[in-house]
Amino acid sequence: MTALQESAPATLPEPKRKSDPAPARFRLVKLALGHAHRYGRYRLVTMGITLAVLMAAPLAGLARVDLWSGAHRMLGDPVDLGLGLATVSVAIASFYGATFLINMIAGRMFCGFGCPVGELSRLSDAVDALAKDPAGQRRAWLKLGAFALLLVGATSLWWVAPGVYVAGGLAMLVAWGALALGVGLALIHARRWRWNFCRKLCPIGLYYSVVQTGGLVHIDYDAKLACTDCKACAGVCPVHLDPRHLDQLLDSPGGLAVSDMPAANHCLSCGACVEICEHMTRKEPLPAAMGFRSPRR
Ligand code: SF4
Ligand code: SF4
Repeated sequence: MTALQESAPATLPEPKRKSDPAPARFRLVKLALGHAHRYGRYRLVTMGITLAVLMAAPLAGLARVDLWSGAHRMLGDPVDLGLGLATVSVAIASFYGATFLINMIAGRMFCGFGCPVGELSRLSDAVDALAKDPAGQRRAWLKLGAFALLLVGATSLWWVAPGVYVAGGLAMLVAWGALALGVGLALIHARRWRWNFCRKLCPIGLYYSVVQTGGLVHIDYDAKLACTDCKACAGVCPVHLDPRHLDQLLDSPGGLAVSDMPAANHCLSCGACVEICEHMTRKEPLPAAMGFRSPRR
């Protein structure tokens, strides 16, 4: 962890008017957005890896079902539809296996740093957080749209050969139409459902709401350190947890999630609480930290 600048603790940004419609969380998100943070750089790399893997597999012909022209692929070879479907199924199962493995070893790090669905929600948060900064909000929309396009584009390559997008004629129209529909759905998810998907519907999250990871990396809170009780860490948490009490049992938020499991099971390891704690306390060691520090709750 880099040394933090010693200065007066930050205070929670207050709404300008009592009727300020922006939820408090967005004010905290905006505060965090105003400071470049190492987690943002890490996430750029990890999210890049996720997208690269998603794109590379069908582009290299390792797995593809071509719904339009029948150019199905398995490990680079042309195959029939059945084998193509089986290959894509095995590839999807392997991705799931890989995310489980990463989370088991590293404590839901895939959820926090590698999951593109979570990234859509994060980028959508930025759009709302910058509501009063039109130029910043335009940039946030652009990032959200570009990421949705990249993600849906990468996913579509599993179901149609890339050549169809430039082939002309009806095939090209249908392919671009499907891509536009997919981007629209991704944006609807990001704007409407957002983190509720992680809390209530994600099948990976369901598993971890029951089984706590033995993760190397976890969120740790040490009350003996300089906690100012500003509550920003709980205020910014996208899945409504209090990082200072992750050992407490949690009622189910609904959906697929299971009741009466420790809050830590629901933690996405996104680091938002640690990031905001750094801004609020500006002191090391931080009361809230993400890393290998042993839990001292
Ligand atoms: S407790 Fe912290 S790391 Fe866990 S989900 Fe909430 S903000 Fe993210
Ligand atoms: S852990 Fe950090 S962010 Fe949370 S209440 Fe204490 S000082 Fe504030």
